[in-house]
Amino acid sequence: MILLGNPVQDNEENANLCLCPTCPTYKKSQLSNTLFCAHGKAEQNVQQNGCLCPNCPVWQKYSLDKMYYCIKGKSVDIES
Ligand code: SF4
Ligand code: SF4
Repeated sequence: MILLGNPVQDNEENANLCLCPTCPTYKKSQLSNTLFCAHGKAEQNVQQNGCLCPNCPVWQKYSLDKMYYCIKGKSVDIES
């Protein structure tokens, strides 16, 4: 399998750093879960309303370059 974006480890440290729960899209769409860059798309329908990923320590730690992982899916599944 070809990895497109950088793989993000699914661990508690990263989950605690994830900014998703404070994001306007997350609140507007009443999402649950976090760390979409590692887990993949949100279960709910996402109403796009701004994305905080570029401000997130996980985004910086793994040199990510995308946004809206809750809509697009895991980093490894998104072409960079
Ligand atoms: S980059 Fe985005 S999806 Fe990934 S942990 Fe940070 S805020 Fe959450
Ligand atoms: S991936 Fe971006 S838009 Fe989606 S919940 Fe996380 S910060 Fe918000």
